[in-house]
Amino acid sequence: MAWFKRVEKGIVTPTEEKKETPDGLWYKCPECKRVTNTTEHKANLYTCVNCGHHERINSAEYFEILFDTPDFQELDADLSSSDPLEFVDTQPYPNRIAASQRKTHLKDAVRTAHGKMNNLDLVVACMDFSFIGGSMGSVVGEKIARAIDYARQHQIPFLMISKSGGARMMEAGYSLMQMAKTSAKLALLSEEKIPYISLLTDPTTGGVTASFAMLGDFNISEPGALIGFAGPRVIKETIGKDLPKDFQRAEFVLDHGFLDFIVHRKELKQKLTQLLLMLQPEPTATTTEQMTTPVNGKVVQTAN
Ligand SMILES: [Zn+2]
Repeated sequence: MAWFKRVEKGIVTPTEEKKETPDGLWYKCPECKRVTNTTEHKANLYTCVNCGHHERINSAEYFEILFDTPDFQELDADLSSSDPLEFVDTQPYPNRIAASQRKTHLKDAVRTAHGKMNNLDLVVACMDFSFIGGSMGSVVGEKIARAIDYARQHQIPFLMISKSGGARMMEAGYSLMQMAKTSAKLALLSEEKIPYISLLTDPTTGGVTASFAMLGDFNISEPGALIGFAGPRVIKETIGKDLPKDFQRAEFVLDHGFLDFIVHRKELKQKLTQLLLMLQPEPTATTTEQMTTPVNGKVVQTAN
């Protein structure tokens, strides 16, 4: 049994080849079940290194990915929901809000900010799914409306990152009014010819899809994102037919003409920058020279 004998003695792995990972820091991809350590997963912008599955991330991560520096200016950071309907389900609405705020350290389901992306000014409104399913209540609508106003005042392009289960039931009619309000504000933005890019991420459904998320000059999406109005079960029961495979996934929605393109998260910053430069009336030389990719800090020159 020669193969059980150690032929070479004193085999040592050089220190630089040793892989050390702190315990308990693993990410398992829900699609392909591949396990990676969270540092690598984060460096890959929370997408699976094996199959490209995009993990749901929040506004903090998107701001970090898109903005050049962490010192972006957050807008209306302290807006918080009241309880106009005195709504009670399993618990009073104010209690639900307070519990969500404690859990997520967020005030509501959207954060808006002004910062620089590859040296270009950009106003971003990004939804947080962790806050009551990214539901659109009056605070979400108001913050988006104010961010659009800010973009108009300062003549800065506007990016909306949607991630939502739809309207917030606990605000009923007030929630639905946000659809009209945000759409009207976007119409004003359009009149001033300021670009509006809408990024739909997993999931974008309900009243959000039926209003601002589909009103972009460019409607783009991350791969595999669920995009729809009503859920597949409701549609199936309504039309009485089986639905096609991958129904309501980004690729399906793109094939049917509702999206302009799908972009991998690792190319998001670069693609958005190219898009904004294309839409600029007069691109300046300095902005293209200072463009960087978000992943590994490699400087990339991009032609106009
Ligand atoms: Zn995977």
